[in-house]
Amino acid sequence: MSRLHPADRAAVGASVATALDGELPRPDDRFRAIGPDDDAAFIRLLAAEAADALEDMPADRVLTWAAGVVPRFVVTSSFGAESAVLLHLVAQVSPEVPVLFLDTGLHFDVTLDFRRTLARDLGLSVVDLRPELSVAQQAERHGDRLWASDPDACCALRKTTPLRTALRSFDGWATGVRRVQTPERAGTPIVEARRHDGRSLVKVAPLARWTDDDVDDYLRAHDLPRHPLVADGYPSVGCEPCTSKVTAGQDPRAGRWAAFDGKSECGLHLPDDGGVVRRTTTPG
Ligand code: SF4
Repeated sequence: MSRLHPADRAAVGASVATALDGELPRPDDRFRAIGPDDDAAFIRLLAAEAADALEDMPADRVLTWAAGVVPRFVVTSSFGAESAVLLHLVAQVSPEVPVLFLDTGLHFDVTLDFRRTLARDLGLSVVDLRPELSVAQQAERHGDRLWASDPDACCALRKTTPLRTALRSFDGWATGVRRVQTPERAGTPIVEARRHDGRSLVKVAPLARWTDDDVDDYLRAHDLPRHPLVADGYPSVGCEPCTSKVTAGQDPRAGRWAAFDGKSECGLHLPDDGGVVRRTTTPG
């Protein structure tokens, strides 16, 4: 059954050309040849076309394209170390786009303060996504400190499942993922088609090509704050139990799941079959 309304489909198809100032040909026979119920093929072709066309474009153009083309578009943010960059871009380009924040119940208090302040200052509409289980209920059902025994299971319960549930109401989303952050992110396309719960969605990474210097320059140029814990030795900030300080010269993400070799992602940006985690030490 088709999930994209025919009118949305027509708009999306036409926008492949028009939203990019005519840099691509108008929707051609390849789009027209896709059956009305085959959203997966339609989204795949749309994403492939856009990925090529947008690869060298500035992040604000990428966001403009996505917000204008994807019928129900949303942005996700961890309100982490450098999240102000993407959020500021959204505020400039399309402030009405909702921002999803995964409120796991295990964030640092300062993260929740940062989320409130930044949302207010940038005029963004932030939606807090909460897991089905409270932290106490999770402890009852799955054992105390699940993050220390099985962080993949904990991330699935508190992050990936709530996000995937929320994404059922959207056709595409943007993240602040950058290629230089981790080896797993090195191949991040600017635009890609992703499967979630049997549906195809457009995933957009407007900052994929950005270097660390690009981020520094943008934050400075726009007088934007980093997460307050960055100044305290946390260059990457996630849930409190899984975030440690790093020493000078260490990989900025070395403090995330530091006790687990091989876990560098919570799963939000991995394919639907997830990743492999090997526990090597006992977390504190
Ligand atoms: S980052 Fe840690 S505490 Fe947060 S959901 Fe994942 S395992 Fe659980």
